[in-house]
Amino acid sequence: MKDTYEREIDYMRLSITDRCNLRCRYCMPDGIELLPRDEILTLDEIELICKEAAALGIHKLKITGGEPLVRKDCVSLVHSLKRITGITQVTLTTNGVLLPEYAGHLRKAGIDGINVSLDTLDQEKYREITGFDALPAVLNGIIQSLELGIRVKVNAVLQRDMNEEEWKPIARLAATYPLDVRFIEMMPIGHGKSYETIANTVVLEKIQEEFGSVIRDESLHGNGPAIYYKIAGFRGSIGFISAIHGKFCSQCNRIRLTSTGQLKPCLCFGESISAKEAVRSGDLAKVRRLLEKAIRNKPGMHQFEQEAAITEKKDMSQIGG
Ligand code: SAM
Ligand code: SF4
Repeated sequence: MKDTYEREIDYMRLSITDRCNLRCRYCMPDGIELLPRDEILTLDEIELICKEAAALGIHKLKITGGEPLVRKDCVSLVHSLKRITGITQVTLTTNGVLLPEYAGHLRKAGIDGINVSLDTLDQEKYREITGFDALPAVLNGIIQSLELGIRVKVNAVLQRDMNEEEWKPIARLAATYPLDVRFIEMMPIGHGKSYETIANTVVLEKIQEEFGSVIRDESLHGNGPAIYYKIAGFRGSIGFISAIHGKFCSQCNRIRLTSTGQLKPCLCFGESISAKEAVRSGDLAKVRRLLEKAIRNKPGMHQFEQEAAITEKKDMSQIGG
């Protein structure tokens, strides 16, 4: 379905939990309040909403969180979403900690790709950013996923005076392994507001100085707004998701469903439409109308550059990125 700006909305991000096994300081620092369990949609409810979304032309789904793999039934959700008529792609965004345990199951369930969030290859910095010593598990999970033939992308958010120099070892992962690496600019949402955004233009310049010139990679890599480049000798591409320094709203193709059943037209604004009551009462025609409304209500663009205009108050762990 098209929104009022003639954008084809064919992608929905599903946050299936606000729980997480890490405490990334810019996303879900220690002490964050968790949502009551009965507020969280069941698997069946998520599936029913996705069926209605598919009927409206949403073909691609991304499962996110919190950390989706802490929800025990995540694999079976992948399995059932893959069977919905009209859904052509189901992917997952994870911190990777539980991938060694689940990669094989996800593969069997039919996962089409896994994005692993990884901001540093330095064990000490990893602990400082996430609160846990889980880097070896994450790296293991990436390697296992690749060995299983799963398409892997590594997503990194850089923070000044913490991991701003980690672009180099992280980018090098795309030289060593057949995976894409993407640098995501810090967005002023939730705890991200306390951190300065490092412009991706600067990261790209540094990458060129270090690895030589880059060539735009126009091939299709996924659902999103990333701009990709190839580097000679690299097995994967390097992508940049530049919400702040490269506004990509004219190509926005998505809506979001939070774990509590809120349909979110745009990450920047607090406006959301609850599909929870409709799905819980079995009124699927209403669920479809609410999805249509969420798509119609998509604003033309975000306003992350003007902090006063950002009305989203939820944490990123509740929205799913
Ligand atoms: N736990 C999973 C993970 O880490 O991939 C999925 C949820 S997490 C909220 C999704 C993505 O959002 C992660 O890549 C994380 O780095 C990113 N993220 C969280 N807060 C952010 C912020 N303020 N700006 C930009 N990205 C953010
Ligand atoms: Fe958890 Fe992902 Fe947020 Fe880190 S970015 S705290 S892994 S939800």
